[in-house]
Amino acid sequence: MTEKTIPFTKEELEKIVTKYPTPFHIYDEKGMREYARKFVKAFSWNPGFKEYYAIKSAPNPFLMKILRSEGFGIDCSSMAELVLASNIGMHGEEIMFTSNDTPAYEYKKAIELGAIINLDDFGHIKYLEEQVGLPELVCFRYNPGALKEGNAIIGHPEEAKYGFTREQLFEGYKILRDKGIKRFGIHTMVASNELNPDYFVETAQILFELIVELYHTLGIRFEFANLGGGIGIPYKPEQQAVDLDRMSSGIQAAYNKYIGANGLDPLKIYFESGRAITGPFGFLVCKVLHIKNTFKKFAGLDASMANLMRPALYGSYHHITVLGNDPNSSKFMYDVTGSLCENNDKFAINRVLPKMTPGDLVVIHDTGAHGHAMGFNYNGKLRSAELLKRENGEVVQIRRAETLNDYFATLDFDEAEKFEV
Ligand SMILES: *Cc1c(COP(=O)(O)O)cnc(C)c1O
Repeated sequence: MTEKTIPFTKEELEKIVTKYPTPFHIYDEKGMREYARKFVKAFSWNPGFKEYYAIKSAPNPFLMKILRSEGFGIDCSSMAELVLASNIGMHGEEIMFTSNDTPAYEYKKAIELGAIINLDDFGHIKYLEEQVGLPELVCFRYNPGALKEGNAIIGHPEEAKYGFTREQLFEGYKILRDKGIKRFGIHTMVASNELNPDYFVETAQILFELIVELYHTLGIRFEFANLGGGIGIPYKPEQQAVDLDRMSSGIQAAYNKYIGANGLDPLKIYFESGRAITGPFGFLVCKVLHIKNTFKKFAGLDASMANLMRPALYGSYHHITVLGNDPNSSKFMYDVTGSLCENNDKFAINRVLPKMTPGDLVVIHDTGAHGHAMGFNYNGKLRSAELLKRENGEVVQIRRAETLNDYFATLDFDEAEKFEV
């Protein structure tokens, strides 16, 4: 069980909304830092351990600066993400570039920044060498295919578009070794939103076994094993967060058994976790706009799936807290909706919640990863602001809300007026 709490009082939020109109995402620095420290501490047995925050989850430079100050690197997979990293002064091996179907200009940028290049495909060895040149440290993404069951979300690895097969991996490292590359890493990511800590232990074991085999076959020593992301979070009250200490001690046992026993330590353990790092520490704050009674009871919010796409896209559960005026009010079953002209624009379906009336504050939980980040402009909806509650309680804006001018910035209405039809 996980108690779904919010790190703000009703009074606090009422004060915040007088300055920043709803909807907005607000992040809790204290919670984020505490979790980051717990993560790092769980792996303190491994010298060189590093978590590279998967910036796609919440690409905000303020959040990244906080995480960097806790020792995190950044995991990028696009030009914009590399530029974000560069703009806050990140460089070198604190950047992991785990992309796929990658254009040459992105490799070029990543190499300029000195990032660790994680290749997704065998064919990219030649592509990278011809287009940009090989860096001194190279990592491959492994796709174990049928050798490992994927989890429910990511599906069967053999259906996934990512990574090298086992044979390609051996061939690829051999090619690099023969070209004089001296520094190697290995990566895999076969889960998404996985809550079972043993799953990650198994993943680590697969990589450790491979590292031993690659060493015996090719004589290559690996610097790091990147276990990817995929650590789940308890979106539902009946779920339990991944026990990081249990996960870490399982990985440590596998490390000793394979890496230690073969004299291949030290080997640095890396993660590129996104969801678990910021997900639980973000909240979408909205207001009830309308209550509608037809065949069902609908609570229409001032936010829409443009602010939080997951429920509509994946049918995901996000916990909802209503900060109404009567804590003892009777409960009703609602569909909680947004205003998009799409019938799936619903944050919850058949959810039993305290009675809502227009103007009530509603908080949607766990929006700190793939929340604002997945926002979009369909139907002319504008993306909201992002706020941060600092550790001292102060609230700062870390991204302003979009305006109509932003929305129309790529159109030229003067040209449209002159346009003959
Ligand atoms: C999305 C992604 C991550 C982060 O995954 P989470 O499930 O958010 O932890 C890490 N690495 C790669 C390559 C990704 O695409």
